Order: sequence, then structure tokens, then C-alpha cells
Amino acid sequence: MIELTNIAGEWGGAGTINGYHAGILAELTSSPWSLLAFIALVVLVVGLAWVLFIVMRWRIVSGASQALKQLEDLNSTWRISVARRSPIRLRCRPSVDSKSKFDRFDLPARMSISILEDELSIEREISLRLQATGQFTKYQHDFEALQYGLLGRSSHPRFSDERFGAIEHKLFLRRKLAYPTPKAKVTTTVSYTSPKGRNSYSSKLEWDFDQLREALVAAQDARAHQSTAGALRQRERNLMTAGLRTKILRRDGFRCRMCGASPADGITLHIDHITPVSLDGRTVPENLQTLCQACNLGKSNHFIG
Ligand SMILES: [Zn+2]
Repeated sequence: MIELTNIAGEWGGAGTINGYHAGILAELTSSPWSLLAFIALVVLVVGLAWVLFIVMRWRIVSGASQALKQLEDLNSTWRISVARRSPIRLRCRPSVDSKSKFDRFDLPARMSISILEDELSIEREISLRLQATGQFTKYQHDFEALQYGLLGRSSHPRFSDERFGAIEHKLFLRRKLAYPTPKAKVTTTVSYTSPKGRNSYSSKLEWDFDQLREALVAAQDARAHQSTAGALRQRERNLMTAGLRTKILRRDGFRCRMCGASPADGITLHIDHITPVSLDGRTVPENLQTLCQACNLGKSNHFIG
């Protein structure tokens, strides 16, 4: 107000400008909206000035700080290899044709199957994200070396050492590259809609990155185990030779070990695994017995030799 009057004086008529000024104020205060606009303008100008002041200080500190300069180099070296990647997204939407199938639906099993179908690309996406976190550990190491070795060693005549140090420290932490947290969103939603659309059900399972990773490893293990177990069983079955069969028949007197029937009674004799191959039974005389077809089929897990 006072300053304005002085300037007005130079313009040659304090009264005129004073009147003009008073006029603006009157106009401003006459409407609550223009007063609000005036206050907003003042806040904006003060805010801008403050931001400018802060930015200038940061620039001076950045220019004088050895630690910040080295951090910039460090960051440009690592920026790409520790960059955060977008979340792995997979969506599977099976639908079933009956309510009972819906109730029995095994979501985790279905999800495991679908991740195995996409195994190679999922594996690749997972490893890219793990690589980034691995690289970040190295970056972190270099970052700390700077932090403990160089941070707080620079100064500038315009700032007290304490002030400079505080700003430098703040900027140093603020400019640290972000940890590339691996993310994933894998969802399977099974749905069933009753005929004529009267009722609709859906059930959802969602896995994050760690769950996806664990599930993939578990699914791969299960598959590997299955194929080894399958191979072992096939080997046991292949061990059942004509010679071994004859040896067992002879040992058991050409009679069913359960009912005693013999081919003379018009039955056919089979060689049976006492512990079935599917339950890891071996093809060795101690695990083999002669059975007639009827007794053999009576066993739930039979082997027809
Ligand atoms: Zn029998």
C-alpha cells in the first residue's frame, strides 16, 4: 500500500493513483469471488517464488556436491538394468457347464496347468524381474559406498556446512533409484451360468509374483516327478518276461493263490503284482502271485500279466 503510493508519486499524482488503487480494492472486496481470486493469485505468486527459491538452492548444492555428481553417474550406469518392469499379467477364464463341476473345480490346479502352457515366456518374464532385483543389490552396494564415502564432504560458501549437508543428504536419498519390486497379477476366474441365465456363479483365484514363482516351480517339479514315476513303472512292467511268468506259475503250482482254481477248471491264470506297480510295487518273485481272472479282477488295482 505504502509502496504503491510512493510509485504513484513518481507518476505525478498520488491522489489519482491512490484513488485508482482504492477503486481496485473496493472492486475486489465488493464481490467475494474476486476477493477469492485475489487471494489465490497471492498464494500462487508466493508459492512460485518459494519453489524457485528451493530449486535454486538445490541447483547450487547439486553443482557443488561431489557425492551428488557421482550419484548421477552411478544412476545413469544402472538405470536400465534396475528399471522396474510392468507386472506380469495373466488371465484365465474357464467356464463349466454344470453347477457340480463348478463346485468341484480345482482353481489352483487349473492355474498350474495354464502357467505350464505358457511356461517359457513366464519363466523368462520372472527371470528378467529377478535379474533386476539382483542388479539392484549391486547398485545398492555402490550407492552405500558413495553414501558413506563421499556424502557430507562437500560445501559451498553460500551455505553453512550444516545447511549444505542437510540439503545434500536429502537430495542424495531422493535421487536413489527405486527398488524394482517384481509384480504379477495372475487370475483365474471360473464361472458357471445356469440354463436360461437364471443363476450365475463365479469364483476367482489371484496370485502375486511370489505365488506365481512358487506355483511354477511346484508345477515343474510335479511334472518331472510324474515322468520319472511313469518311467519307473514302465520299467517294472517291462521286467515281466515270459520266463518270469512261467517261473511264478510253476512256483504256485499252476493254481490261483486265492481260490485254488486251475486251468483244468476252465479258467485262465494271470500273474499279479501283490503291491501294484502304480503303488511302486516291484516286478520280483516276492511281489508276484498267480491268480485266476475272477480273483485278479476282484483286486482294485490289478495287473494282468
Ligand atoms: Zn481265483
